[in-house]
Amino acid sequence: RQVANWRNAGESIALVPTMGAQHEGHLSLVRTAGRKADRVIVSIFVNPAQFAPTEDFGSYPRQEKSDLDKLAPFGVDLVFAPNRDEVYPPDFSTGVSVGGLTECLCGVSRPHFFGGVATVVSKLLNQAQPDIAIFGEKDYQQLLVIRRMARDLDIPVKILGGAIVRENDGLALSSRNAYLSAAERARAPLLNRNLRQVAGALAAGGDQKKAVAAAKDALADAGFRLDYLEVRHAGTLDEVDGSRESPARVFGAAFLGKTRLIDNVPVRLKPGNARR
Ligand code: AMP
Repeated sequence: RQVANWRNAGESIALVPTMGAQHEGHLSLVRTAGRKADRVIVSIFVNPAQFAPTEDFGSYPRQEKSDLDKLAPFGVDLVFAPNRDEVYPPDFSTGVSVGGLTECLCGVSRPHFFGGVATVVSKLLNQAQPDIAIFGEKDYQQLLVIRRMARDLDIPVKILGGAIVRENDGLALSSRNAYLSAAERARAPLLNRNLRQVAGALAAGGDQKKAVAAAKDALADAGFRLDYLEVRHAGTLDEVDGSRESPARVFGAAFLGKTRLIDNVPVRLKPGNARR
């Protein structure tokens, strides 16, 4: 009803989907939303469909009260925090599956993930009917997947990306950082540092294979259990061969203890970078 009122009044709407446990990363998206549209909706829903049974759905931080407090200064017009049955009635039987872009990086180690994300985001877009929806570049692959889904299904929304917000030491903000022990937290910035080292080497025309191998070794030595560390095209996620200049990103995912961290950094490849 509220959305219909706004739309009837000709007001534009921005949606920021989150799983709660708001931090500066989320809040930066909310800020952007406020600049881009008349009305801002933030959704908070820990989406069971994007967790495998072995993952952290049960322990994922849920702090709705403090989330509302954190959002209050931003003039958010509506917080949509549905319960599980509202989103997935017992006989729920539809799923949205995006091919191509989901078949690498996080899609390999978390094969359930993007289907769960695409399904819940398509529902949120139908419910909120926003003109724009904003997703963080921290989950860069997710951003591309959602953009592709919206285009493929003709969902009338513009998908915007928001820059990654980091701690001073480079660690990308994440609700999951709360799982890190003090010792793990001290080592966690090494993921970003090593991605940046690969990006720096490639921007200087260095050998891709060597740079990636050195970063993988450094992370393993520091106690990370690596999921992937790859250089891929920033638009298609194809492997890049360095034969021509292309916008690329260095993507990494790794476990530190029980915590899975992901990050990515941009790099402009120079012709001559050797293929991995
Ligand atoms: P989540 O609650 O983790 O699902 O994240 C909700 C939205 O916030 C997603 O679009 C994320 O990509 C984005 N986000 C999470 N962490 C950051 C960050 N450090 N910087 C920018 N955006 C972020």
